[in-house]
Amino acid sequence: FWSGVEMGPPDNIFGLVEAFKNSTHPNKVNLAMGAYRDEYGNPYVLNCIKKAEKIILDRNLDKEYAGMSGFADFCADAAKLTFGEDSPGLSDGRIATVQSISGTGSLYLASTFFAKFYPHKVVYHSNQTWGNHAQVFKSAGLEANTYTYYDKSTCGLNADGMLKDLRELPSGSIILLHASAHNPTGVDPTQQQWRDIGKVLKEKGHLPFIDMAYQGFATGDLDRDAFAVRLLEREGLQPVVTQSCAKNLGLYGERTGALHVVTASKEEKDRVMSQIKILIRPTYSNPPIHGARLAVEVWRNKDLYKEWLAELKIMSGRISDMRKALQLGLETNTNRKWPHITRQIGMFCYSGLETDQVTLLREEHAIFMTKDGRISMVSLSNNNIEYVVNCISKLLIM
Ligand code: PLP
Repeated sequence: FWSGVEMGPPDNIFGLVEAFKNSTHPNKVNLAMGAYRDEYGNPYVLNCIKKAEKIILDRNLDKEYAGMSGFADFCADAAKLTFGEDSPGLSDGRIATVQSISGTGSLYLASTFFAKFYPHKVVYHSNQTWGNHAQVFKSAGLEANTYTYYDKSTCGLNADGMLKDLRELPSGSIILLHASAHNPTGVDPTQQQWRDIGKVLKEKGHLPFIDMAYQGFATGDLDRDAFAVRLLEREGLQPVVTQSCAKNLGLYGERTGALHVVTASKEEKDRVMSQIKILIRPTYSNPPIHGARLAVEVWRNKDLYKEWLAELKIMSGRISDMRKALQLGLETNTNRKWPHITRQIGMFCYSGLETDQVTLLREEHAIFMTKDGRISMVSLSNNNIEYVVNCISKLLIM
């Protein structure tokens, strides 16, 4: 049956993970994968999640299906966390929320909704963006195109270029934005720049499509990381927001997240909701239940919520410490300035290393990172930082 099927190329990141697993180098380091590690490089299950898991187990719950849109409590809390308690859309009952298969599933679901119901079929995303974005949009039947974002010369944001492109795109375009901790560049607009972006989006009637994969994980502050989403919603825009609980609750493999569509009225919300359910039914029918139960337990249990906030600070704080250590190590060893390492934010550092340097690091030192030079900061730990600094430095002063 399948003799005509050609071998497909490996996924950029999961392909590297596979190569990392197969490496026998004693000091091998995986800087490709974006999953938090503790200071010894071990996977980290949040304490609030471990406790929530015990509580849930003791309740002896059934394993019945959730509804097509997931658990109502999860959706209500996820929306509040995203838009804030005083969101106009929430108080008007204008936001359609469904539980999703983490951030990726939410992006895909939103894209299929656009493909079916929105007149524009192109998603404009920042140049650069997360490697999976364009694939998701294309597989949902949309096109993917870029707007200016990253400025290689400063390792920062080209704000003028971005605003100019947004102004020049056809009115009503779908604009993909990263809520915080831009992946892969670690470069976020300032709050003033977000206001400028919001103004152009409004003037042009663009549809903000906001990917929020790192709320609370970027700065340790849930409100600060949701600034862009809340600003745009309060400015009267109607963002579509994809929310992931993978990083901030450490629920990577539980595939827990939400899709929120801000609409113009409660009646419009009901219509949108009905169509999203129609898209869900033949694809996965209903979302996984365990992660959503854990999230609700953490969000509604005062002690666990407090512990979660503290753990968000621990995780984001460790990333920030590693940024400082990487910058200091490289500046000491290479006699160059590396200010962008601490200026950037979130899980990834866009190091500025070139593809051939990335290849050498992999081949000679078993340091694995994506070919754009993106370093997963969470994979750096006290155990490997010195090795990584030394290998990069050696390469640069060769
Ligand atoms: N969006 C961005 C920008 C990401 O970096 C990621 C994960 O790395 C995701 C979405 C989706 O993650 P998940 O599907 O695990 O929630």
